[in-house]
Formats: sequence, C-alpha cells, structure tokens
Amino acid sequence: MAMHKPAHCKEVGAAAEVCVRAVAAAAASARRQASHATEWHSTYGAIIVGMKPPKMGSCALCLNFRPLELSHFLPQGVSKRLRSPRGPVTEPILVTRQVSISTSNQLRDHLLCSSCEKLFDQRGEDYALRQMNNRGRFPLLDRLRVSPCLDFSLREGVYSGSALGIDTEKLAYFALSVVWRGAVHTWRAADGQNVRPINLGPCQETIRQHLLGRAPFPSQVAVVVNVCTDFESQVIAYYPTPRLGIPGMAYAFLACGIHFTVFTEATDPSVRRVCCVGSAEKLIFSRNIKALTYRAYGKLAATSRPVGALAGQ
Ligand SMILES: [Zn+2]
Repeated sequence: MAMHKPAHCKEVGAAAEVCVRAVAAAAASARRQASHATEWHSTYGAIIVGMKPPKMGSCALCLNFRPLELSHFLPQGVSKRLRSPRGPVTEPILVTRQVSISTSNQLRDHLLCSSCEKLFDQRGEDYALRQMNNRGRFPLLDRLRVSPCLDFSLREGVYSGSALGIDTEKLAYFALSVVWRGAVHTWRAADGQNVRPINLGPCQETIRQHLLGRAPFPSQVAVVVNVCTDFESQVIAYYPTPRLGIPGMAYAFLACGIHFTVFTEATDPSVRRVCCVGSAEKLIFSRNIKALTYRAYGKLAATSRPVGALAGQ
C-alpha cells in the first residue's frame, strides 16, 4: 500500500485532513502495538489515495491469472546476508561483465502469485536461508564441523544428511526453484543486459509439477549440495551458470556458503549416488571451493568496470 504525502491530501479538502490525522494516529498506535496493526480500520475512518493497482498476469508456476508479486531470482534474504554493517559501501556489490555496482536492487520481476511465493518460502527457501552464512554465523557448516564424516579416508567431507537431521529435500527444493526461475523468465541485470536463460529441456515441466507439490522429486534430476569451508565462498552469491566438463547437463549457483549443482540429465549412476535426495544417506558435502569461486568471479571481474560508490574506492 502506498499513501500520498499529506500536502496532496489537502487538495481534496478538510475531510481529507481529518483522514490524514486519523491515519497518523493510527500509524502511531500500530507502532506501539504491532500485533494489532490492522485494528485501526475499526477505529478510524480513512480515505486512501495513491494505491497502485496490482500487476495482473499468469503466474509462471500455477499458471493461474492472478495479481503477481515482485519475485526475486535469488531470494532477497541472500542479498541481506551480503550487506556490510560498516564502511562506505554497505550494500552488496553486483558484478556483471560490464559493471560492478553497490546496490540493494536485485534481479526481480513480476513472476509468481502470492500463493506460489508462499509455497516456495515454506517448502525450501526459508529453511535454506536459515542454513546459510550470515555475517560469520553459518548454521549448516557449524553443524557439519561437530559431526562425524561418513568416510574419514576421503579428502573431502562427506556427511549423511539423514543421520544429522538436515532436511536435504528442502535444500534440493530451493535449488530447483532457483534454477527453474532462470528457465521460465528472462531476467535483466543492473547493467541492462539480459541474464542468459537456462535451458531445462523436458525437465522444466516435471520440475514445475514437483515445485507445485503435484509430483515427487524428478527421477532424471540430481542436486548436489556442497557446504563451503572457505571464507570467500561464504560472502559471495552468483546466479545459476552452466557447469562444464561433468556428465550430462548441469547448472550451479552459490548462495552465502552453500554451493548447489543441479543436474538435469542425471542418467550417470555416479551422479545419482551423490544426490542429496536420491542417495540413500541423503549425502551432503563440505569442502573448500575457493579456486572455483575465484574462477567464476574472475571471468566477470576481468571486464567489469566499477561505477558509483565503487569508482572512488
Ligand atoms: Zn501461482
């Protein structure tokens, strides 16, 4: 809801001024008692001006024609975790091939209805966000650090998600929801360039049905979760990009210390055995991927030009 400034309300007469005072009083009351924030409707009369009509359209997930929310490609909670509490640059730095800019504006567009946003939140996003690194507190990594590996002879940490009570199905749901968002919509980055779309092929509809809760986890899909032990990967996020040099088609993205790889043609048994949903132990991995993160970031940074507050740094 948006409300015009009081000066605008005066134009519609004294009655509107009464309305403004009533709304101000109601707002003060609401601040004092947040749990009763909506009760002022029964106490005060109000005329509200300046409300924007909702953007109507076909929800990409349920396909119903409804008011559409401003959906994020990566959840807003990711960028919140990447803010700096101090210093001249507090907002996360968005890096593209063209520019590097400190901004709170993330990739978002009218994509989903409120019911489907809620579904995403409840079935994966909220849980995944709570596991990520948040200014030095990293619940998922902390959990693994005090837990036994499945095999100490391996160089990388391999854990049983089911034994440790980690909800790997929610992590996988979150990963699929992000990659799917990249496939069903053309997202525009801060430099005005379109993000390269993801091609899920025949998997796209199967994944949509799963995200809606109408189908089980797709049999041809695998999700591998790696919890990053290196600091660099814990303070960076990047959008899904194709993974090359591995069996089948796969996309990977990083969000505050959790690296997800989504295989969309997981026919190779070796891939299926490491899936956090398809494996018997609900496997989850922990390792240092600093080199991989730098490689992904370095390609962009080589041509990216600092602008705004960053230009003077
Ligand atoms: Zn919907």
